[in-house]
Amino acid sequence: MADASLTPMMQQYRELKARDPDAILLFRMGDFYEMFGEDAVRASAVLGIAVTTRDRDKGDQAVPMAGFPHPALETYLAKIVQAGLRAAVCEQIEDPKLVKGLVKRDVVRVVTPGTLTEEALLDPRTANYLAAVVEVGTKVGLAWVELSMGRFSLTSLLRTELADEIARLSPAETLVSELSVDAPWLRSLRAQPGFAVTIRPSWDFQAEQARKTLFDQFGVTTLEGFGVDDRNLEIQAAGALVAYLRETQKSSLGHITRLTPYRRADVLTLDETTRRSLELVRTLREGKREGSLLQVIDRTTTPMGARLLAEYVTSPLTSPALIEERLGAVDELVNDATLRGELREALGEAYDLERLAARVATGRANPRDLSSLARTLALLPRIKARLTARRSQRLSRLEGAIELCPEVRSSIEAALVDDPPLTIKEGGLIRPGYHPELDRLRSASKEGKSWIAKYQTDQIRRTGISGLKVGFNNVFGYYIEISHSQAQRGEVPAEYIRKQTVKNAERYYTPELKEFENEVRNADERANALEYELFTSLRDRVSADAPRLIQAGSVLAQIDVLSALAELAARQGYCRPEIVADPVFEVEAGRHPVLDVVLPHGDFVPNDTRLGPDDGSLLLITGPNMAGKSTYIRQVALIAIMAQMGGFVPARRARIGVVDRLFARVGATDELSRGQSTFMVEMTETANILNNATPQSLVILDEIGRGTSTFDGVSLAWAITEHLHDVVGCRTLFATHYHELVELEKTKARIRNANVVVSESQGEIVFLHRIAPGGADQSYGIHVARLAGVPSPVLDRAREILAFLEKQHGPDPGLPEGPIRRKVKTARSLQGSLFAALPEPLVAELRQTDLATLGPDQALDLLKRLRELA
Ligand code: ADP
Repeated sequence: MADASLTPMMQQYRELKARDPDAILLFRMGDFYEMFGEDAVRASAVLGIAVTTRDRDKGDQAVPMAGFPHPALETYLAKIVQAGLRAAVCEQIEDPKLVKGLVKRDVVRVVTPGTLTEEALLDPRTANYLAAVVEVGTKVGLAWVELSMGRFSLTSLLRTELADEIARLSPAETLVSELSVDAPWLRSLRAQPGFAVTIRPSWDFQAEQARKTLFDQFGVTTLEGFGVDDRNLEIQAAGALVAYLRETQKSSLGHITRLTPYRRADVLTLDETTRRSLELVRTLREGKREGSLLQVIDRTTTPMGARLLAEYVTSPLTSPALIEERLGAVDELVNDATLRGELREALGEAYDLERLAARVATGRANPRDLSSLARTLALLPRIKARLTARRSQRLSRLEGAIELCPEVRSSIEAALVDDPPLTIKEGGLIRPGYHPELDRLRSASKEGKSWIAKYQTDQIRRTGISGLKVGFNNVFGYYIEISHSQAQRGEVPAEYIRKQTVKNAERYYTPELKEFENEVRNADERANALEYELFTSLRDRVSADAPRLIQAGSVLAQIDVLSALAELAARQGYCRPEIVADPVFEVEAGRHPVLDVVLPHGDFVPNDTRLGPDDGSLLLITGPNMAGKSTYIRQVALIAIMAQMGGFVPARRARIGVVDRLFARVGATDELSRGQSTFMVEMTETANILNNATPQSLVILDEIGRGTSTFDGVSLAWAITEHLHDVVGCRTLFATHYHELVELEKTKARIRNANVVVSESQGEIVFLHRIAPGGADQSYGIHVARLAGVPSPVLDRAREILAFLEKQHGPDPGLPEGPIRRKVKTARSLQGSLFAALPEPLVAELRQTDLATLGPDQALDLLKRLRELA
């Protein structure tokens, strides 16, 4: 609505602002982007710039205002987006010189965290996803896109699975319908760090509308070709995504040509906690990439490869055939060091083809981008030639998939100079000889410049003023400059017209000079405009090939990852795992992939692992702190992940039965910072494992049960172990300091005890980090006490008590059989007189508990009851 009290420009501002009130409107005014009102206040905090007021004299109506010069746009956009905000970039879409009054302005794009394509705003090694979630009943549709790479995937899930998927993708921005604003699932997603949500009209998510949007985008009349025609939920999410992209990008999305259905069953499921516990992409304590599995094994040479490797790490495969396919390629590259070296060298020169192609497709590539693109294309023939006649199926297929795109390359090479600038409006980017009209304008401008030199000499000769100079500046154009002292001597010719006085000189012009200026500036301006035109049409032409370029980028990424895995395997002495279907895990001389790299060579002590129907599938590892228990059990999990990524593993020999889900839980103390009750967290996670693990899963438990008192802890650890053994039957490694659990081996067929060997040498405890069969020596604590200088009478007394306690191990005739009874009693005894005898109802209650159906709340209730019974 027009407001008479506003200037026409402020009215224009209001109108543009009203179209997208949530976005910060960057309003172009000459050489500045300005923000007004609320936007100015919000932005000043985020950008660290000062707020002033516009129309200061208007008192109450004064509007807060903040701004920055236009070349700083990218820097400020980065800050806005990092703060999770959106920015609408409004440009002057007419040349102010050519119009009288108000220039037309329009929003040319909306920049949001999930829709970035600019190199400067993106981390080259991390994918930047935009996701959309739609919920119907207990199911959700999830779609996600990497705009800067053109990759578009979709899937449907149970609502309970959503949080893990979102954590896997960690999208920069997630779209949800306005109807879901208060949904509980959204509330819990919001609790994830870095989760940014954008609320969208429900219309976009509506099935028919979404389908129509997708038809438009892909130029089809059915989605059958993508295999998703009957999947309404996924289509709803995908349609809403495309609608948002259209609205924010205001450009073609020509590089998004495919929808790729994603099936969870195809990847090894790693929930959020597992990913964090195993420090796959970030460390647990500091949350940094440094020290994570990904960082330590990353030998890629391109950003595309680095991004793909991150995907391999977070989404290992489950299909033995697909794993073998990758392994075959890695194997060939491990064994052919020349091939590997040559590929890596070529890739080392490659630019980020995927993101370059995406910038071309969204009309944002600058001349340097195109030039980098051509240089990368120039590497393709070499890479393709290297890959011909390869044994591995995967490498041959990649060879076949490389399209050289020679026309794209030659058209860029023909048009652009060797090292073009970043800007497209200031000329200097088109190669001489490319376009006759441009050459003509350029020579006119060049001739003009030699005319100046001649004019200056002529004028010096004519006036006899030796210091006379002809200069140029953007504001005043060409001028003749004469120093004050010379000017005062009165030798300035009468036809010189005074134009400007500067510190030491006077500046003049002549009609002749003015006329010349019009001609030359015209030629320059026209040349620049023509270059701009030539460039944009070149970019449009290249953009038609964006899908092929993106494909080439994805092939390069794959070659990079495979050769990086091979490089790692060769350098670190890994072996090719044998992948089988049986639930076994047999590793000889396995090493922890991170410590293996981080510790000085040879310092890491390798260990064997044997899990399986014949060897026992549940390994209980006891031993003192710092002995190496956690390291060992994580090593097993990481080796499984690396094998299923299709990589070699740090071991002498490995035979691994494909794992369908991997659960890892580390001691509750690490979770304290999340501000939840540690015990509650631990039990929630344990319940999740007990409910979801299958016989094909791998479970890694580290010190479960520590978050509560000893009795509760032992009892729960005991019952959990029994359940994993009796009911789930999965491969399990359980590191615990509850020594009582070693008794379980006696009655449970597939449980094995192991301990970490500790030796004592010259009065010092030495951790050998070697895993050996059998439970840990319980009197170890007494050794340590002696070494610590505890007086010998105390040690003697301790030995006496220990011997007494050990005698109590015999079955108690008055009670039902069962190690739990015996061990719990031992545990109690060990506590001395602190606790009363363990009452029978407690044991009964524990026995009756079906952990498979025990939710977190019930677990807490159970504990309360147990405590009352105790
Ligand atoms: P625990 O879980 O028994 O308390 P950790 O697994 O945390 O012990 O190991 C303690 C330290 O011992 C680790 O930080 C690591 O540096 C070292 N360590 C563990 N296992 C090995 C090994 N196999 N070889 C060499 N050093 C090891």
